Amino acid sequence: MSRYRLLPSPVQEAVLQGHCAHARYVWNLAVEQHLHWHSGRASAPGYLDQCRQLTAARAEHPWLAQGSQTVQQQALRDFTNAMTAFFDRANRAGRPSWRKAGRDEGFRIVGQRGKQWDVRRLSRKVGQVWVPKAGWVRFRWSRAVPRGVKSYRVMMDRAGRWHVAFAAIPAPVLAPGAGQVVGIDRGVIVAAALSTGELLLAPGLNVREEKRLRRLERKLARAQRGSERRKRVRLAVARLRACETDRRKDWAEKASTDIARRFDVIKVEDLQIKNMTRSAKGTRENPGRSVRAKAGLNRGILRSGWGLLVRRLEQKAPGRVERIRPAFTSQRCSACGQVDGRSRESQAVFRCTACGYACHADVNAAKNIAAGHAVTARGGFRDARPTNREPHLLASLNQMRAAGILRFRRRRMSRLPSRRGKVTSHRD
Ligand SMILES: [Zn+2]
Repeated sequence: MSRYRLLPSPVQEAVLQGHCAHARYVWNLAVEQHLHWHSGRASAPGYLDQCRQLTAARAEHPWLAQGSQTVQQQALRDFTNAMTAFFDRANRAGRPSWRKAGRDEGFRIVGQRGKQWDVRRLSRKVGQVWVPKAGWVRFRWSRAVPRGVKSYRVMMDRAGRWHVAFAAIPAPVLAPGAGQVVGIDRGVIVAAALSTGELLLAPGLNVREEKRLRRLERKLARAQRGSERRKRVRLAVARLRACETDRRKDWAEKASTDIARRFDVIKVEDLQIKNMTRSAKGTRENPGRSVRAKAGLNRGILRSGWGLLVRRLEQKAPGRVERIRPAFTSQRCSACGQVDGRSRESQAVFRCTACGYACHADVNAAKNIAAGHAVTARGGFRDARPTNREPHLLASLNQMRAAGILRFRRRRMSRLPSRRGKVTSHRD
């Protein structure tokens, strides 16, 4: 996927917004049709039936007829593909769900370049893409458009920025071929620690921006629903959040390319982030403990871009990423193999109670991961205890609280030497 910043004129922007609304409307109709189905009923309409229904709907509703049939039909085809993926056992995609205005703004154009759509370059920094009903729309030519593209997607994010993404699978990053193995431990404070001793920090918002974000969020909570003011404040919040996401994505892209280039085998923990970040609230009868702190940790986990880093690594270095069973990686001594929870002196320091080996705690964990064996199947070893990450998580939670990191996290983060994702090498 190569993504470019799209720069539509005001007139074109209105057309694009219409396309997004139509695509979403058609998609949601398809979702509704399939939700009505349950076993015993006749099957929900397939793609061809839906296309016939779309033609009828266009004849009846001028609002829909004004839009592009290509865009609307493609939304139906996308839905059909999504349903096929949902029923595919190997794929395990989720059920296609509702699309919401403001959140899911986008549409897709599929076809041969030069026939159904086209791209051309105007000048060194400006290109144009042909969009049905909108004509040639300018975009920022930040790099060459890849060859063999068969579709593109136009989308608008919450901050109101437009992008066009051309679908192309890039060639994988070549392995150096020197037999180098690296283990990566992912964490909340240090986003990724390598077994080589490098600590990678994911950039986010700086202190001033964080402050501003919190102020805006309070303002948003006070603003009346549906008011002009609320709309304005929400856009400002979305802009700040988009900025944060952009920096993190940029970091994940650069870090994953760098790691894929330097190492042959990349070992990561087999973490189920969805399970880990599950709410700690519990039920009324059985309320969870340390709910606020767990919520803070969840935010940290999601913000540090754990999922993205590994996903991009697996795409850039296919077949070279191994998932390791994560049990005890943080308590085991990477020098002598002793497992003791007390060896972890603090959030950052590991000192073995048996042999006295001392190291940055995350680097020690990364070394354990580098030495680990791949998980044979999803869910860990058959004959071993079920993999449970929770004890370690709770331990790190307590350590974080003891170190005052959870409460004063923002201030602490600001003291870190580099905020722009630079590599700080670590001395053992
Ligand atoms: Zn030891």
